[in-house]
Amino acid sequence: MKNYYVMTLFPEMIINGLETSITGRAKKNGIINFEAVNIRDFTNDKHGHVDDYPYGGGAGMVMQPQPVYDCYKYIESKIGKKTRVIYLTPQGKVFNQQMAKEMAQEDNLVFLCGHYEGIDERVLEMIVTDYVSIGDYVLTGGELPSMVMIDSISRMVKGVLSNDVSAEEESFSTNLLEYPQYTRPEVFMEKKVPEVLLSGHHANIEKWRKKLSVERTVQRRPDLFLNDGKKDELIEYMLEYYEGDASRILNILKVCLLADYIAKRENIDERTRYILETAAIVRGVGSGKKLDRILLKFNFDEELISRVKLIVEGEHNQSGLDNQILFESDYLVKMQEEDMSDEEIINICSSKFKTGTGKWICEQILHT
Ligand code: SAM
Repeated sequence: MKNYYVMTLFPEMIINGLETSITGRAKKNGIINFEAVNIRDFTNDKHGHVDDYPYGGGAGMVMQPQPVYDCYKYIESKIGKKTRVIYLTPQGKVFNQQMAKEMAQEDNLVFLCGHYEGIDERVLEMIVTDYVSIGDYVLTGGELPSMVMIDSISRMVKGVLSNDVSAEEESFSTNLLEYPQYTRPEVFMEKKVPEVLLSGHHANIEKWRKKLSVERTVQRRPDLFLNDGKKDELIEYMLEYYEGDASRILNILKVCLLADYIAKRENIDERTRYILETAAIVRGVGSGKKLDRILLKFNFDEELISRVKLIVEGEHNQSGLDNQILFESDYLVKMQEEDMSDEEIINICSSKFKTGTGKWICEQILHT
């Protein structure tokens, strides 16, 4: 059983929130347990105060260290050992699905909710192990953030969801947003459920879902799409592939850096950037089965694979900004590696370069 302790001034908020629905059911079934511990119960102040004015002046009140410390000590003695303590704060690392997955491995977690202007720094230094925010905005207290975290962490605990596959397939678990979902009726206000979902053809359904996941991520969260970590893995793979060949390895890195830089300065969309960057990494492999094998190994979507292949195999004879930027990056590196004269550089730049950034870099590398 996983145990979640919430240190708070408003325990009823936590209990009312988490006792409902899936987390409540998981608690009843003995899969998780949560306890809201009232920080106020531990104050030594005879009037029950837990906060005071900030030293140095300024707006609002600050939660005092003593009740927070004693509250933590109570929980620690209950668990019987030191435990990870998460302080909910807008100054923390922004919570995400990976963190939820990782924290779901812990048997005990303590969440510390601040209120007012926050908590005296000294006690935070003494007990907190993780500083976590749920987003770049400021809330009145840590109660909602701790509930958000417990909800999301619990879903990753085996047995909490009736179907464990759903947590694996959801948005963010693969850096792609989930495909659209449909249920009965088949026609709603003249809008039909996509035909493929009624076909019973599992392979086609899976293909359709993957396609929609990619499209949706590109449209709604292009940032996620671009930073899926595959690029770094692919670079590492290629560097190992060319192990011992210093000039090839450095050439890949230089072209990638340039392509990325030009793409950013030219403001090209994330999908095109992603294709361009992938092509920049694998372009040395040339055409054929080897290229296919590498692209399939990294599980890229079909559309991307075919565009990358066109660019790489077409050796720059394709139209499109992705192809043009790769061409310019390639040439810029060549200019340096082959120590081209200013005359040659000017010639290539004026006849073949099209992007403002590519032309500008050419001007910068001229010898005179
Ligand atoms: N003065 C603090 C600052 O500027 O960092 C903000 C204090 S906030 C009004 C009160 C409490 O709400 C914090 O101590 C924290 O526990 C919680 N809180 C507010 N925004 C949060 C967020 N985005 N993520 C996590 N906790 C948050």
